[in-house]
Amino acid sequence: MSIFADNLKRLQEVQAISGIKDEEMKVLLEPVQNKYVELEIEGEKYPAWRILYNRALGPGKGGIRFHPEVSEDEVKSLAFWMTLKNSLADIPYGGAKGGVKFNPKGLSEQKLEAISRAYAHAFAPYLGQDKDIPAPDVYTNGKIMSWMLDEFEQVVGHHEPGMITGKPVELGGIKMRGDATAQGGYIVIKEMVSKFLAGKKNLSFAVQGFGNAGSFIAEKLAADGFVMVAASDSSGGVYQADGLDVSKLAQFKQAAGSLSSYEEGTKISNAELLETEVDILILAALENQITELNADKIKAKYIVELANGPVDFAADKILASKGTLIVPDILANSGGVITSYFEWAQNRTGQILDEEYLRVLLDKKMKANWTAVYEKYLAAENKITLRQAAYWLAINRILIAEKYRGRIS
Ligand code: NAD
Repeated sequence: MSIFADNLKRLQEVQAISGIKDEEMKVLLEPVQNKYVELEIEGEKYPAWRILYNRALGPGKGGIRFHPEVSEDEVKSLAFWMTLKNSLADIPYGGAKGGVKFNPKGLSEQKLEAISRAYAHAFAPYLGQDKDIPAPDVYTNGKIMSWMLDEFEQVVGHHEPGMITGKPVELGGIKMRGDATAQGGYIVIKEMVSKFLAGKKNLSFAVQGFGNAGSFIAEKLAADGFVMVAASDSSGGVYQADGLDVSKLAQFKQAAGSLSSYEEGTKISNAELLETEVDILILAALENQITELNADKIKAKYIVELANGPVDFAADKILASKGTLIVPDILANSGGVITSYFEWAQNRTGQILDEEYLRVLLDKKMKANWTAVYEKYLAAENKITLRQAAYWLAINRILIAEKYRGRIS
């Protein structure tokens, strides 16, 4: 099943409702740069990609994923989503993504460092603060960004902290990056609740993917009176009808590395978690978690995509026909890249901005993005989904930039 083929279907659909012409849409059908190498370390080969999808609005921007299921199809799709996400967020970036296909779990730190450095070395000609700026994604983190920055700077022979984001503070990172994706998602959920669930108290939620984005958003929602009845990671899930203790679960996951041996609540599978009776289902793991195989069984009326692409095209249709509202990934999880933009801007100017000021800015930007999407959705009198509204806005901005550049007329 090609994730990218699904993206093309989504583009076709938006084209039909927006009237975008074929010759305009063609600039969004393929990436502008697709680089592949096999990293070789101690005789072992690691397939690695860096794909720059579009650069009309600025340099490429998007994370690097280390995962056994990474493929060209996946990286291309993630780069496509980054393109739309950055455009929708109105930050001066195109979209890109990278990945290495291997299982980082249980690997020695030396091996992980060797793979990270080999990646930065191999792709150095294509990376840079004005070319393409990576960041962490699934199973990559600040330490990996540090090795990549160091390797890149050795290749180019000068300091360039703005070539990568999600760095430790000591290397030019920004403290608020850690929970920024969750913070952005939290702001969007509050907006969604105010429009669709106003006045409802003790709303319940479940989180698939209790990792960085998933655990932080759970903590923020719980602190605000929402009740988490289920959470899962790749080892499985836990359920408790009257609510799980989110802080305790987060501390447990931090210490044990997985939720599998958590002793409170009832053990459930990931499939069961998705089908839990809750108000809000938060998807924070990987792509294609809700498909035509399980869309019918989803009971939550509100789905928030913190992960990229967790609901596929066919499932979108089934859920829309049931009246399920989906807050799409390119809106819900954009807090991370917006904060990466703050980090990059600081690195480029040498200025260090007050964190409180940046938090206010993130809040304002997320609300503005939500409002733009929601108003587009309302203007179409509920005939389009929030995803279609978000795609429409994002595509429009890219096409205007492409026109100014003269790539399309
Ligand atoms: P992470 O590695 O910290 O967490 C991912 C979690 O998902 C882990 O706990 C893992 O065990 C779990 N998981 C993996 N497969 C699963 C499965 N089949 N079922 C249930 N859980 C599963 O990664 P993250 O940074 O939190 O990213 C999660 C998602 O959010 C990804 O899709 C990523 O692209 C997206 N995202 C993250 C950020 C960010 O800033 N962290 C920004 C934008 C989008």
